Amino acid sequence: MRLSTASYGLLLICVCLIIRLELSWLTAYSRRGQAEAPAAEQAREYYELYENIWKDLVYFPIPESTEDPEAEVSFENSWMFERTYGGSYGHEGTDLMPSVEKSGYYPVLSMTDGVVENIGWLEKGGWRIGIRSVHDVYFYYAHLSSYAEEFRKGDVVSAGQLLGYMGDTGYGKEEGTTGQFPVHLHVGIYVRNEEIPELAVNPYWFLRYLEQHKLKYSFS
Ligand SMILES: [Zn+2]
Repeated sequence: MRLSTASYGLLLICVCLIIRLELSWLTAYSRRGQAEAPAAEQAREYYELYENIWKDLVYFPIPESTEDPEAEVSFENSWMFERTYGGSYGHEGTDLMPSVEKSGYYPVLSMTDGVVENIGWLEKGGWRIGIRSVHDVYFYYAHLSSYAEEFRKGDVVSAGQLLGYMGDTGYGKEEGTTGQFPVHLHVGIYVRNEEIPELAVNPYWFLRYLEQHKLKYSFS
């Protein structure tokens, strides 16, 4: 059987159409691939940032008292709850609330190994200490009544080391302001990388996990 010129023409058009269709699918597919690549990379970066937190966490910041079984702390997930001191903003942390509402009663321990990055008075945070952990995570402990020792920037601390005592300092320009809110420990966690200089992370679930890792400590 011989094909007529018209049939040849038709066949050629069909083949061309199929090739074009295939090509457009391929281009669309590869474009989508390109668009997804940065998002996947970003997700990977966040994964690593959060993973660093898990790598460094060792102890819950408030130990269990060997003498006072009543000395407990409770906390809720108050991430981004409204705070209004000096303007409205979201709560970047978790507040550990004591059953014994006494300033200077509960020891505050470092959750991680690390280095003292910040120490001293902050208008909002009161007497605070900031520890940069081994994997570059910033752990922020605020409203302390006092420090365990005269810490200086660059001092090395180890997980479980006494940093100071839970208090109610802060919410004042004047150093030593107290009594503006109930005694508690504010815990903040911040991660960073080359693109993100500071990213606040909700400490709530990390603290829930750490509750299983409380040190025993003598205080009453
Ligand atoms: Zn707080």
